[in-house]
Parts: sequence; C-alpha cells; structure tokens
Amino acid sequence: MKTAKKSFGDPYICQQSWDEDMLVQCGEKGIVFSDSGNYSTAFFEAFPEKPHCFVRGEGNSLKEAEKNCWDKYQKILTCDHEMERRKRTDGYGYCKHCSYSSMVFEPLTKCCKCKKLTAYDTDHKGNWYCKKHSTTKPKNPNPSFFGDDEDRRLPRKEKKLLKKAAEYHFKVAGINGRVIFSYLCYPKFTCSDKRINLISSRIRKTLIQSYRERNE
Ligand SMILES: [Zn+2]
Ligand SMILES: [Zn+2]
Repeated sequence: MKTAKKSFGDPYICQQSWDEDMLVQCGEKGIVFSDSGNYSTAFFEAFPEKPHCFVRGEGNSLKEAEKNCWDKYQKILTCDHEMERRKRTDGYGYCKHCSYSSMVFEPLTKCCKCKKLTAYDTDHKGNWYCKKHSTTKPKNPNPSFFGDDEDRRLPRKEKKLLKKAAEYHFKVAGINGRVIFSYLCYPKFTCSDKRINLISSRIRKTLIQSYRERNE
C-alpha cells in the first residue's frame, strides 16, 4: 500500500498506482504565493526520476489533488514534448502540451567577462557571471538583507530557514535556479525573473510556516 507523507497526522493512503519507490508528499493546507493573491489549497506532489521532474496537483481535497497530480504525470509520460522558453532566459523550458518542465536549453545570457553562455550569477546591475568569474563580481553598494548588517536583527536560524523556504517555494512553482537575496528598496528573494518580497515580518512568518507544514 503506497502512502504519501503528510504535513500533519497519519500518512495519506494513495488512490493512484504510483511506483512504490517514487517520492510523494501531500498536505491539506498549502499556501501558494501568487501575483494575484496568496491562497490555500490541498496539494499532492510527486518527484519522478524518469523523466526527472516535479509534478504538483491541487484540489479541494487530498483525493482531488492526488488525481490532479496523477493526470498531469500520465500526460507527461505519453506526451511528445515540444519545449519552449517562455520568459525564461536561463535554459529552463516548458512543454507546450503538458506540465513537464526542465533545464533543456543553453542559457541566453553571457558572462560579461568571458562571453561564455551562462545563467550562474548576476550582480546588482544585472550583468551575468559564469561560475569561474562570479568571484570577480562587484559588491552591491546597498547592504544585503542577509549580510552582516542584518545579523543583529534576524536570528541566524530564521535566516537559514527563510532561505530554505524560498528555495522550496520557487521549486514548487517550477522555477529552478539560484535563489538570490537582495535588499534594493526592501528585502526579497529572486530566482530567475520571479521574486518573493519580504516586506513585513508577517510575510516572513507565513513563508516559514507554510514551508514547515510541508517539510517537517
Ligand atoms: Zn509534454
Ligand atoms: Zn566567465
């Protein structure tokens, strides 16, 4: 009997025939950060290896969310993928026909030092750097949210947790890549062209709380 780890209480007994060794998890209340307002939903997440991807279903109940996730996964397995970049410039692509997404292209951006195609790192001015040249990146004149200045105000533990939570939320949204902290006007995490603003401590609390509900 296949079960899915749940944020609270007993594991959920799966209704669909997932592979025994596939990692699956779910929760009754997941918070989704969205441009058009945050909302709460039951969710079911699968992490298949072939193809290596992340599939997430949502619904009014766990059953519904699992079915939604299962249907998406079945479509991924039989789809003749046609990948497109959409707004991404880092090489990440989305299938036009199903919910499959993966790093399938070369980045479109070039290292400002050696001109190699890269999406490894950017400076505060928006110049790109490959891994090798990222060490030559100029310092941001604005103090970093996660720099030394902030150490006194934000406990180390909370800082670490916030980073983990942000990385998780970007992943859930299908946005892979390096998560960067910046403090231009206000603290935020950015990943590719998406961002999570951390204007208030309430938002920081919500971010950590929803991450904990799913992962602890
Ligand atoms: Zn496809
Ligand atoms: Zn370079």
